[in-house]
This record gives sequence, structure tokens and C-alpha cells, in this order.
Amino acid sequence: MTQEQWGALQNSIRESLGPSTYTTWIEPLEFQGVDNGVVSFGVPTSFFGNYVSQHYGEMLLYKIQRSGTEARRVAFLTSANSTRKPELPAAKPEADVPRVAEVVDAGAPLDPRFTFESFVVGKPNELAHAAARRVAEGGEVTFNPLFLYGGVGLGKTHLMHAIAWELQQRAPEKVVLYLSAEQFMYRFVQALRDKTMMEFKQMFRSVDVLMVDDVQFIAGKDSTQEEFFHTFNALVDQRKQIIISADRAPGEIKGLEERIKSRLQCGLIVDLHPTDYELRLGILQAKSEQQAVTHPSVELDPRVLEFLALRISTNVRVLEGALTRLYAFASLVGQRITMELAQDCLADVLRASERKITIEEIQRKVSEHYNIRLSDMIGPKRLRLIARPRQVAMYLCKHMTSRSLPEIGRHFGGRDHTTVMHGVKRIDELKQQDGQIAEDLEMLRRALEA
Ligand code: ADP
Ligand code: MG
Repeated sequence: MTQEQWGALQNSIRESLGPSTYTTWIEPLEFQGVDNGVVSFGVPTSFFGNYVSQHYGEMLLYKIQRSGTEARRVAFLTSANSTRKPELPAAKPEADVPRVAEVVDAGAPLDPRFTFESFVVGKPNELAHAAARRVAEGGEVTFNPLFLYGGVGLGKTHLMHAIAWELQQRAPEKVVLYLSAEQFMYRFVQALRDKTMMEFKQMFRSVDVLMVDDVQFIAGKDSTQEEFFHTFNALVDQRKQIIISADRAPGEIKGLEERIKSRLQCGLIVDLHPTDYELRLGILQAKSEQQAVTHPSVELDPRVLEFLALRISTNVRVLEGALTRLYAFASLVGQRITMELAQDCLADVLRASERKITIEEIQRKVSEHYNIRLSDMIGPKRLRLIARPRQVAMYLCKHMTSRSLPEIGRHFGGRDHTTVMHGVKRIDELKQQDGQIAEDLEMLRRALEA
């Protein structure tokens, strides 16, 4: 296509879009040329480019093709040609080809605080940390994917960002893409809608390292899973590193296709265990050193850290939040952080973390409710009269505690995790058919939460 041909096309576009839309969105486009089927236009800003791409990209491509030009797609480039998100780990050296990222935007921003330096290592997370370190060296791909899983706030996202930062240092030539599974889905849906699937696929297949956070999100979302599966396979075939996180093991993600599960299980699976006292104390010490930099005037009684590590056993995010609040408060009122101040200032957090439902509590409540002996609940009897309440208790343990199936099994007289899984599934089914069971569950849940 020549400038003249573009001029003629513009007239026809003006007629179809009307003068005002035309003047706002099409006239400013600066035709730059066609290369290898890609028609490039200069645009004033990347927002402008994205907007035109989304709203008129298809129409433009269609018209250009109709005019006899062989075009596969249309690219919009800002004059600086540097619209790549700055927070994205460094890309391959700029070539003259238009960036795919112009059309389908790339990854999510990385948190500058989430580095290996700021990650405190302890027994519960040492394996995950070692695996993450290994991948971050950027050498030969030895296990693919790396699958990190664990409960909320145990440091999955932190570790993934740390890998991305480290790779940026060590292997700046690698294109690293980090995003959540939710963002993957949005991009996918958008590409479908805008008919930019080619770009979408091309972008995801052209990275050296792909990280997808919270992959459990795509469970049950069939077409997204399908696309994820293809992307995954394409990258594995090219021996590109994939890093995935989820809140549970691949086999335990409900609604995830079997073939994806088995693919995910091919690499290295490491879990972040719930924190123990030592790790929590270590994290608190590290974070309080950071706080001390921001609040140099605040003094801290070190016993407060021990107290918090003991009392707040939920996720690290809560622990962090508690500390931040303490420092902010102490600095505001100009006081030293003492045990008394901590108890006062964090009364709600402390109360909330007290209410942690245990497996034993559930077993006790359920036995009471069905009037069976606790020893029978845990024992070997298979009578329906006993087995059903046992399954109810298993179901509640699965849903009201963060314990894994094997852990729950152990608390029920050393039963296998498949037995627990079966029990949970059975109650799930019965809940739909049997009003009494549904009512029992609801009542027990409320009693336990009280
Ligand atoms: P997840 O993604 O597993 O839900 P995050 O990675 O978002 O958890 O971690 C929650 C918060 O706790 C973050 O602020 C993170 O920096 C912090 N955190 C978690 N584990 C550690 C650790 N071992 N050392 C330092 N900070 C941690
Ligand atoms: Mg996370």
C-alpha cells in the first residue's frame, strides 16, 4: 500500500465512520508502511493506539485487505516506539519489527518490594525458595513447570516476583512475562472479542519465561483452560520455563481439566507450608527493621515480636499489616511499642486470629450433633449411622480449615486422603438431594463460627 492508496482509503473510511469519528481517530494515524504483512501506523500515544486498535483495528484491516494489500494485521506504534511497560522485565533488544505488545498488552507490574533479599527463609518455605532460586538463575530448564502452591499470604506472589526481578538482572535478554491467571483470561477474552487471537497466541508463545499466578482461577472456565493448555504445551515444547502458582496442589484443583492437571504434575511441585513460630518471628524481625527506617523515632520492645509471632498464626500478610499498624500508631502518639500498646492497638486482629477452627473442634461438634461417640467418629466403624456424620465432619474440615486432605485423613484415625475426598464428595452430592443434610451443615457451620 502506498501513501496515495492510504489517502484513498481514508476517504472511504471517512464516509463509513462519519466526519467527527474520522477526525478524532483516523486522521491522526500516520501511515508508515507495510512490512511482511504488518501495516504500521504511527500514533501519538499508546492509549490512542490501543483505542484505535480495539475499536477500528478490524475495520482497518478489512478495508486494507479489500484494497488489494496483503495484510495480516495492523500495528500502532508510538513515535518513541517504547510503549513497552517500564515495569516489565527487560525485553529483547529493540528490533525494527513492530512489537506485538502494542496490540495485546503484556504482563502485570512487579512489586519492587518482592525480592529474594526481602524473602525470609525458614523450614516451611525452604524448598519453595530453593526451587525459585534455581529457576531464577536462568540456566537450562531442568524442571517444567515449577509449580508453587500454598495457602493465602504464604509468599507465592512474592517468590514469583523475586524470580522475575532476579532474571532481569542475570539474563536481561530474556523476555519474562508475569501475570495472574485472571489477567490471562481477560486478555484471552479480549483477544477473542477483538479478533486478535493471532497476536495473543504470538505474544504468549514468544516469551522465554511465563509466570501465571493463582492458576486455580481458571478452573471451570473451559475455553480459557483450553487456551492455557495450548500456550503451556507450546512453551514446554520450545523448552521455555513456566512457573505456576496456585492455592492448592494440581490434583486438588476442582474443575481443572485432567490433561492440564497431569501436565502441571510433570514438573517440580513444591508447597509453601503454613508458617511456624520461628519463621514468623524471622519475618517480623526483618519487617520491623524496615519499619524502623521509616519511623526512626519509634522504639520497640522485642517481646512484642515474640508475642505477635505466637498469637497471629494466619497468613504473613496479616502479620505484616499488624506491624505496620503498630508502627504507624506508635509514631503518631509518640510512644514506645510495648506489650500493652500492642494489645490495645491490635485487639481486633488478635481476636480474629484466636478464632481458628480446628479439626478436633469440628469432630466434637459433629459428634454432639448426631449423638455419636467421638471415638466412633475417629474409629473404624463403617455403619451408616457413624459413617455419615464422619463424612459430614470431613466435609466441614475441608471447607472450614486450611488443612489438606492427607492431614484431615490423619485426624480421622489415619484414613487415606482418597477416603476423605470421597467423603467430601458424597456430602457435596447429598447436600443437593437431602434437605436435612443441607440444614445440618448450615447449623453446624453457624455453631462452629460462633
Ligand atoms: P500469596 O501470593 O501466597 O498469597 P504473597 O506473596 O502476596 O502471598 O505474600 C503476602 C505478604 O507476605 C507479602 O507482603 C509478602 O511480602 C509477605 N511474605 C510472605 N512470605 C514472606 C517471607 N517468607 N518473607 C518475607 N515476606 C513474606
Ligand atoms: Mg498471591
